[in-house]
Amino acid sequence: MSDKTRQFPLPLSSVTDKAQKKQQVFSPVATPQTATQNAARTAANSPWKPPTVVATPSRSHAYAMERSQPLPAAAPRQNPLVSDAVRRAMVQRVANQGVQDQVVLEALARVPRHAFMDEGLASQAYIDASLPIGHHQTISQPYIVARMIEVLRNGAALQRVLEIGTGCGYQAAVLACVAQEVYSIERIKPLHELAKANLRPMRVPNIRLHYGDGMLGLPQAAPFDGIILAAAGLEVPQALLEQLSIGGRLVAPVGGRTQHLELVTRVAKAEWVSQTLEDCHFVPLRSGTV
Ligand code: SAH
Repeated sequence: MSDKTRQFPLPLSSVTDKAQKKQQVFSPVATPQTATQNAARTAANSPWKPPTVVATPSRSHAYAMERSQPLPAAAPRQNPLVSDAVRRAMVQRVANQGVQDQVVLEALARVPRHAFMDEGLASQAYIDASLPIGHHQTISQPYIVARMIEVLRNGAALQRVLEIGTGCGYQAAVLACVAQEVYSIERIKPLHELAKANLRPMRVPNIRLHYGDGMLGLPQAAPFDGIILAAAGLEVPQALLEQLSIGGRLVAPVGGRTQHLELVTRVAKAEWVSQTLEDCHFVPLRSGTV
């Protein structure tokens, strides 16, 4: 077993802030979810599977789920506007818009989006829209999160994924359901802290949050078989292309006032193939940190 395999999965706190090591998110806290979490951890390298809902494959463009326990973070709020049923309805709308990958739809159904938002906006959490998270940034629209991850996955399991633009941490949590390891970089310190605070109570074992300029990627953890950008640049940064594994896929919004999704596949050491997908609208990719 390599060092990397032994170290993974790690609790979020050990990844992001060594000084907070004492507050291990994986300390054995007895909650109704503990048994499920233990089972998930011992299953060899399995991605995070919060025990919210179970998906059953069904006919194309339809999405059926059974009721199950909500996540701990979702439990205290009894607001019917943030219930499992409302989340299932959102997932159904995303499926109706054309997202077909059941693994992605299931992941979307499992993550309590309202827990990543300001309490005042939580009742709007399951409308299909981007919403403010502070610092002139937004939580991405559920449809585009699902669509980008669907394109990234291309029907195959993901091992190591890099996200540029953590924001509040929502997309990272969805990615953690479909990939073995998720690395996410945010350039705005208070948002990096917000994502840590949002994710900590969910005890997500396979996300590593970094504060820094995502345009430089994360060479120490490269190569990645998937890279996803949550902010739009005029072009895809070269450093990110270099950090893709051969066969790896990068999905990014590209453009200024008008933007489109771009899929870049690394087909050889010095060869990348690019495809233009649908139009989109993202906040700008910026260099440096604040
Ligand atoms: N992933 C988020 C979306 C956040 S919005 C979600 O789950 O909804 C996009 C984020 O990208 C913003 O927080 C912005 O600060 C960040 N960002 C922009 N340029 C960046 C860069 N160079 N490195 C890291 N983060 C960046």
